[in-house]
Amino acid sequence: MTVKIQKFVPFNIFLWKISSRCNLNCKYCYVYNSVDSLWREQPRFMSEPVVRQTARRMREHCEAHNVPNVSLNFHGGEPLLGGVKYLKEIVAIIDETFAGSGIQLDLGLQSNGLLFTPEIGDFFLERDLSIGISLDGPPEVNDINRVDHRGQPTSAKLEEKLALLTSAPYELIFGGFLSVINTTVDPIAVIEYLLSFNTANIDFLLPLNNHDRRPPAKEIDADATPYADWLIQIFDYWFYRHTNTRIRIFDSIIRLLCGHSSLVEAIGLDPVALIVIETNGSLEAVDTLKTTFEGATKLEYNVGEHDFDTVAKDMAVRSRQLGADALCQKCKECPVVDICGGGYLPHRYSSERGFDNPSVYCADIAKLIRHIHAAVAGELNKQVLETVTV
Ligand code: SF4
Repeated sequence: MTVKIQKFVPFNIFLWKISSRCNLNCKYCYVYNSVDSLWREQPRFMSEPVVRQTARRMREHCEAHNVPNVSLNFHGGEPLLGGVKYLKEIVAIIDETFAGSGIQLDLGLQSNGLLFTPEIGDFFLERDLSIGISLDGPPEVNDINRVDHRGQPTSAKLEEKLALLTSAPYELIFGGFLSVINTTVDPIAVIEYLLSFNTANIDFLLPLNNHDRRPPAKEIDADATPYADWLIQIFDYWFYRHTNTRIRIFDSIIRLLCGHSSLVEAIGLDPVALIVIETNGSLEAVDTLKTTFEGATKLEYNVGEHDFDTVAKDMAVRSRQLGADALCQKCKECPVVDICGGGYLPHRYSSERGFDNPSVYCADIAKLIRHIHAAVAGELNKQVLETVTV
């Protein structure tokens, strides 16, 4: 493949894996129940020296490239596993390191929610830290995959925690839901349940499958569109009701259709400026590549020995910043490539051709884009006609 080198793109999204273990054992988990088992070698928690060094490297990188705003997201495993004291220590080190830099730090955390407490909520309020919750839908849907280590359902306990998190004063720190699509369940029941929490944001995720491990409902026919059909029902429900909730996959497609940037890594051709730091300080380009092959995420860099500039220049990172040039021939010639962007990198994988494929969700994405395009165009036409008539 001939690779065209483009402008250096500094990182502005840093995903810190502060805990490498989880209190749940979700059946679809890309960390613990996938093909890559390297998590076993990771320390359980990010140590103080690694936290300090990572923060220092981040400040250096941002200052060198005049990055004014940085998004720092705590992930895991389960990032609440270390408790509130551990979180306070980490955040104190980060604040100390960035003091006087003028860099705006946007701190967030993605959690399964089960360990949320008022103490954690108070700290998040005090420090302006947001928390996103992983939830697939109402209990009978969520408990299909989101189970504990004994295989037991977890929704009843989560609903108690959500009642706390989505009421005063903690609703101010609630960032929204991350929801994995299951096409065997009713999409309207899912969206109505998620919206019942007055959430500001919802992210629907396509399952982390690829051409070797076909997604559920696409095992036989790769050109079937069960994911588009499922999402289109939710889109129509959401679009024509004009709710204030942002559904990022739909918002991203609409934004891209209007010439703006995407809000999610999985859609569009924008350069990806995200880097993942593991608990031991090693660096990864896309942690979800764990679903492709053993060691796929490894970059052989760590914050102890390498700065973020070195990592940003690595071809595994640059290849995600090359737009359509990094895509397979079919994608390059595709009429919706500017919107789709070839799909999410892990979805493109096959052992035969590596990442030189369209997304395994190609047919779904193309259908969804066309549907949203028609809906938005129809709405705009209606508004123009109304204006003319008035
Ligand atoms: S719709 Fe399919 S062919 Fe077109 S860019 Fe996306 S993955 Fe590639």
